[in-house]
Formats: sequence, structure tokens, C-alpha cells
Amino acid sequence: MLLNMNQMLGVAKENHFAVGAYNVSDSNLFRTVVEAAEENDSPAIIAVHPTELAYCKDDFVKYMIARISNSPVPFVLHMDHGDSIQSIMRAVHDGFSSVMLDGSLLPFEENIAKTAEVVRYCHMVNVSVEGELGTIGQTGETVKGGMTEVKYTNPEDAKTFVNKTGVDTLAVAIGTCHGLYPKGVTPKLRMDVLKSIKEVVDIPLVLHGGSGNPDSEVAEAVRIGIQKVNISSDYKSAFFTKAREVLARPNSGWDPNNLFPECIESGKKVIFHKMNLFNSTGKAALYRQAQIKQWRNELV
Ligand SMILES: [Zn+2]
Repeated sequence: MLLNMNQMLGVAKENHFAVGAYNVSDSNLFRTVVEAAEENDSPAIIAVHPTELAYCKDDFVKYMIARISNSPVPFVLHMDHGDSIQSIMRAVHDGFSSVMLDGSLLPFEENIAKTAEVVRYCHMVNVSVEGELGTIGQTGETVKGGMTEVKYTNPEDAKTFVNKTGVDTLAVAIGTCHGLYPKGVTPKLRMDVLKSIKEVVDIPLVLHGGSGNPDSEVAEAVRIGIQKVNISSDYKSAFFTKAREVLARPNSGWDPNNLFPECIESGKKVIFHKMNLFNSTGKAALYRQAQIKQWRNELV
């Protein structure tokens, strides 16, 4: 089942759970996420960053769409951190059901103008749009590289931004960083900032940089009103830690079908844990029920 983000997070908001967005860039990582979702009967968001799309190429998107469209579990195919109108149009052309325009480093008014333009185009073709306000930090361990500070989202600005752009979801900066945290660094989420944003903004909120934060904090953020949590580094790191172990074995060979099944299982374990944390395990049934209801309404 392929949905856009409104369809996905509308159900999540109503039933008080969050849906994980997992970055993929090849068939092994894609299988890890899709099979984990199906085994757990959990909804999931397949996230592809422009640098990941540059790596896996546009034709790979056709395979992903065919695979998830035929699944009994709901998926969104989402462009993560679209950085230009061109990257957004490329995603729409490839068949993504949702995009993010990250204008968070632009001056406030420019971020509004650019995001509103993307919303106008994307809504014409039923593609949902995520905007970002405030600056989510970088730990220096991601593809973006370099360390940056967190600039917390201002709740009043968030309200103005949502009203003026018409975005469907908003990524907020409440203290998380992209990537895995260096040893000795303990991130602390500002729940007070999240609560203040939630009071003035009604659309689903998104937490980026969800890898490496304590489970209790992520669960609390979901309870307050986060509906989408982005996960990339910690399930991939489990996959590749296992890959290193498998490759170090004598005579491990060179066939993907021998090397990767154990890595996929290791990545899945992290995803199962996240799905339980977000309370999305078993929730795919809600979407199937909604779909049946819609078909019935169309028949009468
Ligand atoms: Zn992000």
C-alpha cells in the first residue's frame, strides 16, 4: 500500500503513535526496512535523501514503488531533505508520494517563500510536503559532515510558517542531531519547546536525528505529539557492524546471498525496537480497515 504522508500520519495522530522514516539507498537496506515492517505489521516511511537517490539512481525507485505498492502494509516513499526545486521535481517525476523541502538554513521569509512554492506544485499532484524550521544539529558523522549547533524552533515562528506555507508536516529542532553522537555526548531534548509548538501548531510534527537519543526521551516526544521519527544511522550501523563480522570470517566468499542475510537480520532488530518504541507495531491493520471503509463508501 503506497500512501502520501497525510494519509499515513492522519491515522497515526488519531491513534497516538508515530511512524519511523528509515533512510535507504540500496536493495539490502530497502529489504531490511520493508521486511521488518511486514513482519511487525507496522506502517513505515521509506526515506531517500538526494545524495542517496544520486547513488541508487532513479530506476531503483520503480522497483521500490512496485514492491511497496503490492504490500499489505502501508508505506510512504519520501524524499528526505530535498534541497532545491530541482530535487523535489525529480522526486515527483520518479513517483515519490511525499517530499521534504529543507529551507531551514535560509532566512525565515525565504524559507516561507520557497516552501510555499513547493507546496503549491506538490499539492496539485497529491504529493505531501514537509518543511523545516530551526536547525537540527550535525554530529559530523553523517553524509552532510561537519558539526553544527542546534537552533531551537521558535513556536510563534512555527505557527506563522505553517499558516503561510500550507505544509503538511513540520520538522522541528528540539535538541536532536543528525548522525550518531560522539562518545561522552548525551543529547537532551527540550520537551518544553515541543509542548509550546504543539500548542500553536496542529499538523503532525517530525523529529529528525532520532538515532542515539535515549528511548525514554523519544517515547516522551511521541507522547507529546511527534508523529514521524527519522532513523538512519543506528539501523545502518547495526547492518554494517554485522557485515564487518561476516566478512572477517575465513572463506566468507563474495556472494551477496551468503553475506547479507545476517546483516539484514541485525538491521531488522534495531527497526523492531524502534517500531515498539513508536508504538507502530501491529498498526498496519488500521490502514487496511480505513481502505476497506473507503472502498465501501465508493460503492454506495
Ligand atoms: Zn534530517
